[in-house]
Amino acid sequence: MAKFLKVSFPENCIGCELCVAETQRQMQKVGLDGALIRVFKDRKDNSDVIVFSIELDPRVNSIDIEKIIEICPTKVFTVEDKEDENGLTG
Ligand code: SF4
Repeated sequence: MAKFLKVSFPENCIGCELCVAETQRQMQKVGLDGALIRVFKDRKDNSDVIVFSIELDPRVNSIDIEKIIEICPTKVFTVEDKEDENGLTG
């Protein structure tokens, strides 16, 4: 079964972008060009409360996702076992 990175606790995100840095390190890329994880900052209900949202490119699952889970200081991510896209297991 394939393993997938999942944003399980987005409300925990503090916007540190360590997850972005780790994916770029693994991809041997500098800057945000072609980033597989993006972190967006927003205001909750137009108030002063800052919230973050995390967008994953499906290709992120081809790199070491355990490392991404480990590097996040607030445990936003979990790993999920799933059937692959054509419905086959294993
Ligand atoms: S490492 Fe975790 S807390 Fe930091 S930006 Fe990524 S998801 Fe948010």
